[in-house]
Amino acid sequence: MTATASTDPTVDEATAERLAEALRCVTISREDPAETDETQFLRLATHLERCFPLVHEHLELETFGHSRLYRWAGAEDGVAAILLAHQDVVPVDDERRWTHPPFAGVVDSEFVWGRGAIDDKSRVMAILEAAEAALAAGVRPRRTIYLAFGHDEEVFGDDGAVRMARRLRERGVRAELLLDEGGVITQGVADGVHIPVATIMVGEKGYATVRLSVSAVGGHSSMPGGRTAVGRLARAVSRVQEHPFPLRMTPVTADMLSRIRVFMSEPRRTALGFAKVAAPAILRVLALRPQTEAMVRTTTAPTVFHGGVKANVLPQRAEALVNFRILPGDSVDGVLAHCRRVIKDREVSIELVGMTSEPSPPRTPGPWFETLAELAREVAPGIGVTSGLVPGATDSRHYDDLAATRCNFAPIILDSADLDRIHGTDERISRANYARLIEFNRRLFDRLARER
Ligand SMILES: [Zn+2]
Repeated sequence: MTATASTDPTVDEATAERLAEALRCVTISREDPAETDETQFLRLATHLERCFPLVHEHLELETFGHSRLYRWAGAEDGVAAILLAHQDVVPVDDERRWTHPPFAGVVDSEFVWGRGAIDDKSRVMAILEAAEAALAAGVRPRRTIYLAFGHDEEVFGDDGAVRMARRLRERGVRAELLLDEGGVITQGVADGVHIPVATIMVGEKGYATVRLSVSAVGGHSSMPGGRTAVGRLARAVSRVQEHPFPLRMTPVTADMLSRIRVFMSEPRRTALGFAKVAAPAILRVLALRPQTEAMVRTTTAPTVFHGGVKANVLPQRAEALVNFRILPGDSVDGVLAHCRRVIKDREVSIELVGMTSEPSPPRTPGPWFETLAELAREVAPGIGVTSGLVPGATDSRHYDDLAATRCNFAPIILDSADLDRIHGTDERISRANYARLIEFNRRLFDRLARER
């Protein structure tokens, strides 16, 4: 069974317009914080305060830069949940390719259009819509809930999420559930699965960028001697590329496969049933597609290559960047050691640059996973549910130690074209998906009032 247009939920004009106005705030995160347009974040803050008066009356708010940490006090001791979302968005590559300007916040009969419609303002707004409705209905959580809305997730959260997480740590917060962006419900994306599948992710891969560089004397290219800096660097990059990390089954991937095989038709279902005995064969199949390969190995991606200034001048320096997404069980140090081992060239210097992040500690889905799965089925009937790992880095890594269960998930139904819109062109959210997202959060608050 799949959701059909006639049974799709929707949101009214006022609700759609509140999201659209949030999308009109140009809260782009820049690598250089000095380039951030502060007025746009202030505009968003004002908008939130205007739209959600009960939230701002009843919840305590602490700000860290433009990040907003709300505390919704429970009737009893303890902290039930930390819900994360982020207010910032990525820049737009080529505005002319968009159907509507990316920051116009256009609403039509089916969609709300704009950068941030999926990632991640719809989640900020849906959580607040649900909290406002809960407060209006007199719902009060049994135990405390925190809402933490970062302002720099897209540039790794050092100013926002890190400080909010530190504050929670200072307060001795230990929550049962940490919920953030990451997994969604996909339709027609997983091979051999014919129903929409919710992937409730339970952790994320690590992240490291390694700079390879070669320095040389330089000189005239008519007398090059041996390898130039460019040639030596090219060999090093090629060695890294030709020596991928080994394929490996992790507990999360094994859990994901065992959950997803139920929704598969034969012969895949039977084949996956042998996943343990036939692990090498399964791994080889998963490695065939980039999306599934990412689940079973630390991936290697040479992304930048610079060197030389002129065709007839020997380069004095050449450097390349290689980006790694690290599977639980591997580590940032392990990536460096791997590079040294496969490059085997003392003339190539190897170092980490920029943000690094260790993979999540291996965890298997806990009781809250099942609760979220239930809520997802309630707002999107007929779906299957599986687990997984976020391939990228989210703010939740900064909070990983603050909760027993961590889930990355939003119950919106996307196909592969929709997935390309995230950080891409024509980002938009359907009214149906936005309604699901709000309803999911309302039901979550109801559960937290009754404690599951
Ligand atoms: Zn995001």
